Amino acid sequence: MTFDRIYRDNDFVLSFELFPPKTDDGMIALEDNLRALFKFKPNFVTCTYGAGGSTRDKTLDTLARAQKIGKGPVASHLTCVDATVDDLRAYLHRATAQGIQNIVAIRGDAPKGQTSFQATEGGLRYGSDLVALISREFPKLGIAVGGYPETHPEAPDADTDLANLKRKVDCGADVVITQLFFNNADFFRFRDRCAAAGIGVPIVPGIIPATSFEQINRMTSLCGAKLPPRFRADLEKAAPDPEAQYKVGVAHAIAQCKDLKANGVPGIHFYVLNKSRATSEVLHALHVPEN
Ligand SMILES: Cc1cc2nc3c(=O)[nH]c(=O)nc-3n(C[C@H](O)[C@H](O)[C@H](O)COP(=O)(O)OP(=O)(O)OC[C@H]3O[C@@H](n4cnc5c(N)ncnc54)[C@H](O)[C@@H]3O)c2cc1C
Repeated sequence: MTFDRIYRDNDFVLSFELFPPKTDDGMIALEDNLRALFKFKPNFVTCTYGAGGSTRDKTLDTLARAQKIGKGPVASHLTCVDATVDDLRAYLHRATAQGIQNIVAIRGDAPKGQTSFQATEGGLRYGSDLVALISREFPKLGIAVGGYPETHPEAPDADTDLANLKRKVDCGADVVITQLFFNNADFFRFRDRCAAAGIGVPIVPGIIPATSFEQINRMTSLCGAKLPPRFRADLEKAAPDPEAQYKVGVAHAIAQCKDLKANGVPGIHFYVLNKSRATSEVLHALHVPEN
């Protein structure tokens, strides 16, 4: 089932984002966590697409496991990094042959050692170019794109970034999934600005249950999301005790998700980081039934 139908037919869409494990042991652990996560009947799961060649092959492998265990729709992320248009086409053919009906179409970041994103010769420059390619040549695929409640770090200002997001939607994106964020006010402002700009597709919050200060510092320094000072202080205070940090992170995610649901979001996309415990606790708190 494609994104447009999933979001049209369901009042609240639950989705999980995985990444391709690097090792066989990682894949086995992921399968166990997937079995636990599938008890909540997600509407779809996605798998990220890495910067390096070897993990790229693993995106489709990871989704094949998810298709086998969950039997529901999956989406492959795809980026323009280090790829010609022919490479992108070849990947899209492989994905569709595997029964994948949805793509999270992403520009990607500059490879390590490069300061800014440069299009590969014969490749694409922006996320909107990838959306246009997919819409034109693979019109049956559903398309999600990334949105930035706190503005993309490279954008000169929030309005320019919003105009660029609208371009992706005008090129054919069915849904916007946001970068992770910790302050719902940023999301609600972004949602209002999208509506005012005429972006009519669902705007879906991306939420990460942040269970370790070290891990979340690493992630926020990469993507630019800000930790609210109080949450940062609570995580820091709990730092000597991993279980205490975990509880602080899960409590924050629960509070965020309850508030988002109360304010009518079309769904929540969980950055589960291939684990199930924290997301399961959040879902229990939201009274999402488990089989
Ligand atoms: C939901 C989601 C999933 C992600 N999945 C992955 C993944 O699987 N693998 C991975 O490596 N990374 C992933 N990322 C991270 C992503 O690679 C980075 O955020 C990246 O910096 C931007 O990707 P984008 O598709 O949003 O870029 P774009 O939409 O191309 O935007 C990038 C920048 O260019 C600007 N811009 C866009 N169009 C134009 C234009 N026409 N003219 C001038 N400026 C323009 C935008 O304002 C923005 O500042 C994901 C992010 C999100 C939110």
